[in-house]
Amino acid sequence: MSLSLQSLPGIGPKTLERLNKLGISTTKELLYHFPLRYLDFSKHSPISDLREGDSYTIKGQLLSFKNIYTRSHKNIQKATISDSTGQIELIWFNQPYLEKNFKVGDTYHFAGSPTLFQNRLTIIAPEYSLLQTNRIVPIYPQTQGLNSKFFQKLFSLSLNDLLSSQKDPLPIAILKKYSLLSLPDSLRNIHQPQNQTLLEQARHRLSLDEILNYQSLSHLSKKEWLSKKAQNLLKSDKTIDSKLTSFTKSLPFKLTPSQTKVWAEVKKDLLSQKKVTNRLIQGDVGSGKTIIAILATYLTQLNHKHSLILAPTQVLAKQHYQTFKKLLPKNTPLKLIQSASNTKNGKTKKELSPQKGTIFISTHAAIFQKDSLPPISLLIIDEQHKFGVKQRNFLEQKDKLPHTLTMTATPIPRTISLTFLGNLDLSFIDLPPKDRLPIKTHLIPSLKVPDCYNWVKDKIKKEEAQAYIVCPLIEESESLASVSSVKKEYLHLQKEVFPDLKIGLVHGKLKAAEKDKIIKDFKDHKLHILLSTPIIEVGVDIPNSTIIIIQSAQRFGLAQLHQLRGRVGRGAIQSYCFLFADPNLNPKSLSRLEYLQKHHSGQKIAEFDLKTRGPGEIFNTLQHGFPSLKLAQLSDTLLVSKSQLILNSLVESNFNLEKLLIQKPQKALSSLQN
Ligand code: ADP
Ligand code: MG
Repeated sequence: MSLSLQSLPGIGPKTLERLNKLGISTTKELLYHFPLRYLDFSKHSPISDLREGDSYTIKGQLLSFKNIYTRSHKNIQKATISDSTGQIELIWFNQPYLEKNFKVGDTYHFAGSPTLFQNRLTIIAPEYSLLQTNRIVPIYPQTQGLNSKFFQKLFSLSLNDLLSSQKDPLPIAILKKYSLLSLPDSLRNIHQPQNQTLLEQARHRLSLDEILNYQSLSHLSKKEWLSKKAQNLLKSDKTIDSKLTSFTKSLPFKLTPSQTKVWAEVKKDLLSQKKVTNRLIQGDVGSGKTIIAILATYLTQLNHKHSLILAPTQVLAKQHYQTFKKLLPKNTPLKLIQSASNTKNGKTKKELSPQKGTIFISTHAAIFQKDSLPPISLLIIDEQHKFGVKQRNFLEQKDKLPHTLTMTATPIPRTISLTFLGNLDLSFIDLPPKDRLPIKTHLIPSLKVPDCYNWVKDKIKKEEAQAYIVCPLIEESESLASVSSVKKEYLHLQKEVFPDLKIGLVHGKLKAAEKDKIIKDFKDHKLHILLSTPIIEVGVDIPNSTIIIIQSAQRFGLAQLHQLRGRVGRGAIQSYCFLFADPNLNPKSLSRLEYLQKHHSGQKIAEFDLKTRGPGEIFNTLQHGFPSLKLAQLSDTLLVSKSQLILNSLVESNFNLEKLLIQKPQKALSSLQN
């Protein structure tokens, strides 16, 4: 029998409502409402050791307690405590009720950090424990009118009852093998630590559970995918094989070893008669992912089946269309699905009654037109991080799915792959084509901006170079204000900085046709400089452009800067990236930009980002719901690999992974996919 929240002491309708607002509506959710931090009253410093600025816990006898009322109806509580080494003042503001809590002459624990107040070392608003025991006191987040003391009291009265319904889902053998504290003991110690060691063990176990939870979810979702059938099975034979071979020979470049390896993995998947492909191809910007997409669609085409490529922007869809057209054998049926407006006048339907084995290229608008598409046997989602994960199986029909390949340039730290991407097979294009030189990256302080512009001007005039200049958005999205600021910058650059060069301007508010025209002009070298908002971030491939200037670089995340930098260095010519940064840059931002200046591997940059700024930006660039990890750190590689080992051995023994989900499966899955 599980307890209800209402049956716990001290929970009336009003408190219940507040708990609900915190997302706590079951006793299990209450148990998983963890303290934010702890005050360790089991150790205390002698008062004479206290120094300004550091944090301490102290234990002392209360010598005096005074409520002092000021003229402005405010009041101050002043106390003095002493131990055998000295004494110190404590001060609170506007808490007259405190007087009732303390008795002069008794001994109490306090925690806080001393400051100089009226020239005396004083602790302002110290935390305190009224219990006279030497213990570790949990501090809960104070929200919705429920303070830490409320939770402390609630757990001290009910923890035993709450825990009586908790069983450990992990087999004892696993607990032993990995020296894990049991779940009930962990939950007890996270709320009421007996000592630091047990608290550490509790944290470790509960962190591990969090990772295991997501790994189990990924695994369950893989199982579900494996239960589906392919829209069409693909085959190869002698003719098809020899056509593929002569196609690779016809390319203007030789596949790199990484590309060859990844193509072999993809081909094997596509030709598998047993399962539907669900593979993610990770490859740094410029590593050459497009050719893998081309090969996969060509194989599908040779089977007389349709494929669909989704690109995140019109610009990119068009670029793919041109690349495919240039590289694939003549007469390969290719269709660019233009924009949604075509559907309205009924054109799309007609356009989409296609020749056998057509390769469709579209933006994600195709998701909304899926009913006018013929059955698709292969779906490729390029720059997958720009789409929501939910849209991945939008083509599912009666348990049948197309083979699905997703491609991303977002380097994903290994711990994140292992935790969240277990449902996908992964391929890595680890090395770029051999001719590539590392992009020379320089941080340019404001004073040096004119010199930098002059250098770029020279490079353009003398060496026929081309340059991107990227302006950050001044608001979240491409609002009118952002557009007007980039227009201003355009006028400034055109009139004052580069009067004799041709500059094009693209931003998100331009019509698709205008954007296409400007980018084409830049590609055809009719423009020297392309000034842009971050819309060029993904995919744009113009190898002759070898310089990129990123203005106010500190306003971008590292992953995004790395993507932007990847617009250059796409050929054999030395490329340059200049990061303009505001003069009053804080040391943290500076060190991030310096890291980018020194490092070129997307993977390294992502790991650094994860360590220094947490997983936020990575999930952001992956357009992936930020998971609610309360305790686990995704930069903790040991934890994640331990959890992976445990998962593997559980899977081997046919363990029911649903038991490891912290939330109910449905709720958990939607949190993973949002
Ligand atoms: P991304 O992985 O960023 O999508 P692309 O597929 O657009 O990269 O490739 C980047 C550039 O590298 C393109 O201009 C492409 O033609 C070129 N490229 C791709 N593969 C090779 C190769 N094996 N050798 C030389 N150049 C290549
Ligand atoms: Mg690409």
